[in-house]
Amino acid sequence: MHDLSLSQLSLELEQGHLSSYELTEHLLKRIAAHDSQLNSMITVTATQALAAAKQADSLRKQNQANALTGIPYIHKDIFCTQDVLTSCGSKILENFISPYDATVTQQLKQAGMVMLGKANMDEFAMGSSNENSHYGPVKNPWQLDYVPGGSSGGSAAAIAAQFAPVATGSDTGGSIRQPAAFTNLTGIKPSYGRVSRYGMVAFASSLDQGGPMARSAEDCAMMLNAMSGHDPLDSTSLPLAPLTIGKADLHQPLKGLRVGLPKEYFTDSLNTEMRDRIEAAAKTLEALGCDIVNISLPHSHLAVSVYYVVAPAEASSNLARYDGVRYGYRCENPVDLQDLYLRSRSEGFGVEVKRRIMVGTFVLSSGYYDAYYLQAQKVRQLIRNDFLDAFKQVDVILSPTTPQPAFKLGERMADPIQMYLADLYTIPANLAGLPALSAPAGFINGLPVGFQLIGKDLEEAKILAVAHQYQQVTNWHLQQPAFNTIV
Ligand code: GLN
Repeated sequence: MHDLSLSQLSLELEQGHLSSYELTEHLLKRIAAHDSQLNSMITVTATQALAAAKQADSLRKQNQANALTGIPYIHKDIFCTQDVLTSCGSKILENFISPYDATVTQQLKQAGMVMLGKANMDEFAMGSSNENSHYGPVKNPWQLDYVPGGSSGGSAAAIAAQFAPVATGSDTGGSIRQPAAFTNLTGIKPSYGRVSRYGMVAFASSLDQGGPMARSAEDCAMMLNAMSGHDPLDSTSLPLAPLTIGKADLHQPLKGLRVGLPKEYFTDSLNTEMRDRIEAAAKTLEALGCDIVNISLPHSHLAVSVYYVVAPAEASSNLARYDGVRYGYRCENPVDLQDLYLRSRSEGFGVEVKRRIMVGTFVLSSGYYDAYYLQAQKVRQLIRNDFLDAFKQVDVILSPTTPQPAFKLGERMADPIQMYLADLYTIPANLAGLPALSAPAGFINGLPVGFQLIGKDLEEAKILAVAHQYQQVTNWHLQQPAFNTIV
């Protein structure tokens, strides 16, 4: 039963072929037996999960179930969960038992979903390989000496290894889409403000968005419906009702839909085999009735630079709260307040997080603010304007999700710039606040790769429809890693 997708499991539960309790027990056993090979989980909440499953089964008996009731999921450890460790992959939060639930946690609880545990991740979601976690790196089930991507690498590896049909992720510069591409999953970063950030540990507040990762676009839509909607507790949450993307939306006609290929995304930095996979995806979309149009996003080459000013600036401000006083790690025997701050932060944060805090503090400091931060904000607007111009000609934009497939563990750890370039194609959508997804597009040397679809503001349903209909005529997303046949 672990090989079934969310929508298939939902049907099995509805038809009474399976109980949530049996399913939950089975997946917990699978995690206990095999996660030592992957390290995808930081916390497994077995007792709570079985209790939630029992409750879901009784709701179903009383005819009070919806499509998600009783479905097990894995929650990225960036979302606060009441009475359960919320570490955000950091030593500085290794003892933080959250006193409250994030809004997303509440929404999934309300839907009757069963949380199996919290997924490993890069510390404070800073990373593209899941090697920046205080809890150790995560392995890619497709090839165990490769990274699963990051920062939602635990979520990605866990779904790929069939520990759960779905998981949550967060995406500041690509952290849902890039790991989805590296592990043959579908994942969507919604429009900025679509999913509440309340209780989702803040990295870069103007970029962060929570979203789902799953085995298909249809499953992502079901999750996103439950995760979306206005939240008065998040001042940047859009005043919109939750999404209700259903079968009819996913099957909206694609005839005449204009799909843009940005020429700046198909340059020499793109692996040639990757180019072939994306061109093949474009052909498939053409066969489904779409029109392929060449477009230009002229400021694309500035996106990574802009991101590495804006994101660290916001991070340095957000991470100022970890001071060893209110919660989290505190150094031993501080001699005075200064020593308490200094050592708690020096000992509690990892290398990459410290690098970002230093860059962020620098670009915000007086004398440099105008030259770096303000300038970056201006270029950010140019990048968004490129998209707005392009969307006068096309309805969605198609690109690779990443320049290359997954890389080897350790390969880029000594070279942060190389690591940052893994997000070359995903960062622009965050800077512009647009919805974007990644879906499986095939394989290069046995490793999965993904295509990215970027939509207009609030048009999650459209990009999910394109991906869904693509998945009706292709079977890349159904391929499983050898790991799953052995274990
Ligand atoms: N890899 C990018 C970073 O390190 C994006 C991370 C993310 O989306 N959370 O900042």
